[in-house]
Amino acid sequence: MIIEKISRALGVEPWRIKGALDRHTIRIVKDFTPNYIVFKKSLGQIERGTSVFLNDDLDVVPGFPKIQRAFYLRPVVERHFGEKIAVEEKMNGYNVRAFLVNNKVYALTRGGFICPYTTAKLREISGIKKFLSDHNVVLCGEVVGMENPYVIHEYPEAGKFGFFVFDIREKKSNDPKPIQERNSLLDAYGIRYVRLIGIFKKAIVVEEIFKIIKELEKENREGVVLKDPDMKIPPIKYTSSKTNTSDLAYAFRFPYDYGRDFFFSRIMREGYQALELEEEEDDLKKRALRLGESLLYPMVETMKKIKKGEIVTEDFTVRVNSRREISKIETYLRRQGVDVNIVDIREEENGFVARVKRMRHSTNDKIRSLLSGKIE
Ligand code: ATP
Ligand code: MG
Repeated sequence: MIIEKISRALGVEPWRIKGALDRHTIRIVKDFTPNYIVFKKSLGQIERGTSVFLNDDLDVVPGFPKIQRAFYLRPVVERHFGEKIAVEEKMNGYNVRAFLVNNKVYALTRGGFICPYTTAKLREISGIKKFLSDHNVVLCGEVVGMENPYVIHEYPEAGKFGFFVFDIREKKSNDPKPIQERNSLLDAYGIRYVRLIGIFKKAIVVEEIFKIIKELEKENREGVVLKDPDMKIPPIKYTSSKTNTSDLAYAFRFPYDYGRDFFFSRIMREGYQALELEEEEDDLKKRALRLGESLLYPMVETMKKIKKGEIVTEDFTVRVNSRREISKIETYLRRQGVDVNIVDIREEENGFVARVKRMRHSTNDKIRSLLSGKIE
């Protein structure tokens, strides 16, 4: 019965939904009213991270599509885009989809699960609820700042928690609005959005991007997303060298907990960028040094700590209104397979601030055992 309904809502044959349920590539979340299902993998046209709320209307929130990356920019721009290219700032935080179910705002993270922390925070931002009541769409944006359990990066304009929209998407088709239309719609509600750096002609855009990247890099900003102003062509991302190496430096604090692909892809990006910028002796040497340091320093730092008997963890700060919310976040993260401990809850004037320690078992276990004489 429910399979039939889901199948109709998504336009997929019932046997495929049933198969996915049997294979557990669709998960049902039952501790939430209404219950909802999450696509943990894509199924035909259905994006990974798609959620379907099992209320009367069966609200569907499509997954956010992967944005492909340019390694070597010029030919990508040439082949992929039309005559005009919008260059937007790429912000470094986590992807959130905000929407309305039963007249309440909810926030999904990339995988399609409702995040209690982000949901509570978005409800405090004015304009979002009104916007979503007036328009039956999904607001896709980046949460950035210093207080969240996922990605910590400082943005002066964001404060501790900022939400910057990059797409307004149609629920049924998942089609995004053209850029200018998106911006003026959001302006009318005072909702913040990612910075549009400029719209450039194809002939000059690559030079412009390299200039822009250089400026962004000075302010520790991640990079750019290139878009068709009409949003008819999928966007492409491109990041600065400083981002690549600071990602590496971060991940090399927990080398055995990150996938090999994470490291490899970022190392290769440095090669393609050096080639495209035709770097010679001095600049190439600087890049080599920066790259090498981003691998070696953090791993040695971690090894030293473990040698001293310490445990290395990843630390986050969250700020909420009640103790109950903190335990909800803990339960949620644990259920996502993230091993966290709340170590310190401090009551402040308007709420509670907690420190979340994420355990990184593989790194601690592996380094401890190799340092104590294990061979392999
Ligand atoms: P994926 O490549 O699958 O999207 P990822 O975790 O590898 O996921 P990133 O490398 O950070 O993602 O790049 C894509 C993400 O960048 C988007 O999913 C979105 O969350 C974020 N983002 C930040 N700024 C923008 C922007 N201006 N336009 C679109 N996406 C943006
Ligand atoms: Mg990102």
